[in-house]
Amino acid sequence: MPAAFALSPDILAKYQPVIGLEVHVQLLTQSKAFCGCRNEYGGEPNTHVCPVCLGLPGALPVLNKQAVEFAVLAAKAIGCTIRETSIFSRKNYFYPDSPKGYQISQFDKPIAEHGMIVVPDANGAPKRIGITRLHMEEDAGKSLHDGFADSATRTYIDLNRCGTPLVEIVSEPDLRTPDEAFEYLTKLKEILLYTGVSDCNMEEGSLRCDANVSVMLKGAEKFGTKAEVKNVNSFRYIRAALEYEIERQIGVIEEGSRVVQESRLWNNAEGRTYSMRSKEQAHDYRYFPEPDLPPLVVGAEWQRQILSAMPELPEARRARLVADYGVSAQDAATLTTDRNLGDFFELAAKSAKSPKRVASILFSEITMRLRAAEITLDKSPISLDGLVLAADLTEGGEISSKQLKQLLDSCFTEGRDFVYIYDRDKPQQISDTSAIEAMIDEVIAANPAQVAQFKGGKRTVAAFFVGQVMRLSKGQANPALLNELVVKKLDA
Ligand code: ADP
Ligand code: ZN
Ligand code: MG
Repeated sequence: MPAAFALSPDILAKYQPVIGLEVHVQLLTQSKAFCGCRNEYGGEPNTHVCPVCLGLPGALPVLNKQAVEFAVLAAKAIGCTIRETSIFSRKNYFYPDSPKGYQISQFDKPIAEHGMIVVPDANGAPKRIGITRLHMEEDAGKSLHDGFADSATRTYIDLNRCGTPLVEIVSEPDLRTPDEAFEYLTKLKEILLYTGVSDCNMEEGSLRCDANVSVMLKGAEKFGTKAEVKNVNSFRYIRAALEYEIERQIGVIEEGSRVVQESRLWNNAEGRTYSMRSKEQAHDYRYFPEPDLPPLVVGAEWQRQILSAMPELPEARRARLVADYGVSAQDAATLTTDRNLGDFFELAAKSAKSPKRVASILFSEITMRLRAAEITLDKSPISLDGLVLAADLTEGGEISSKQLKQLLDSCFTEGRDFVYIYDRDKPQQISDTSAIEAMIDEVIAANPAQVAQFKGGKRTVAAFFVGQVMRLSKGQANPALLNELVVKKLDA
């Protein structure tokens, strides 16, 4: 690890960071952007290739209609305006993983512009982050630097990824803190996952982020010179990379030097950035219109057709979950972070007696156990019917919350559904009024101070007595009956 920058909080506080993100997202089309090769992660190296994506002379690209539809869907989901006629351009550069010597991209006439994502700022207030543009392009292949016996002296090339359809989403320099950048990425990923155009899997590289960052004195009008940080391949490291880079730049300025405009590589292991290329920064890609592809026209009718496939987006769903099911705003936010979780909840909530009970079991009991077992919701042993049954039994007071926990524990250790486990274990329940009353009397006698509180008007103390009796009954007292009898006894 490098020595931490020795900058005092006072010095850091003099500066205002400015951040803009460029996010590349692979589209989940069946085939590649301009040829019929399968678009699939992995595979034997250099098996998903053809003359078009290998850039052999004479091979001609044909645009994938599905890629256009996904790009339009993604663009609309982040509030962009679609350009009816957009142009593909060649971005010329030489790199071993790009056999054509250029990348087909879009330059001055991208398919979409002027979008917006709302993120919470430091105080939790909504802040609009502008999206400059969303354009279509193709991915390059991969250079494999490790994993071979002779990796010390050779680099291998896998061209399977060549020609994978991408959209690049460029933000305005509206972000002011690493936290805001993190929130922006989280929101963007959430929205894209809802649209289904990408799996946004950062480990597999289907979502990649370059972070542009500069610093200026607070109150300054002109932005500072930016550096572009590449290779930040996990959400966790975005904050770290930006924090590092902000402090590095402040250090440079405080020393009396200037920040140079350059690309810098983030190194996870060392927790720092390195200069990648500074001198030849004045990149000239010599963009020109791609002569082998006609202008892309997405007319009003086609746009309408594409938009008919737009699902409800997270923001709208949050509001609806609160309105339709009475869950809290906080719960609604958690339920919408993952579309599957939201779907699972809604299906259960529709057939259960109490949607709120479904939400509370899902959060406090099921997700906690899934996390402990390190399994995802789709591998959960609890079926939809299982969740509904658990919620209804708990809501109806037919099982206590302690019994619910025990049943769920069995489900997870045995990998069996709640319906099966409940049927097999049918927990004992004490529903005999006089037996419960006897226990209540015992607890009342032992806790005169709490009885006095209750009598003095603090009726919430009833919960204390319910808890004590529940413990005395080893979790077997019928909760509904217990609640009723406790209040009756205390009021008597
Ligand atoms: P370039 O010409 O180097 O590609 P752009 O103006 O196209 O630069 O911007 C690329 C990204 O950098 C955008 O996300 C933009 O918001 C961001 N950006 C531009 N200027 C700055 C700056 N001074 N500080 C931080 N980010 C910036
Ligand atoms: Zn191909
Ligand atoms: Mg640019």
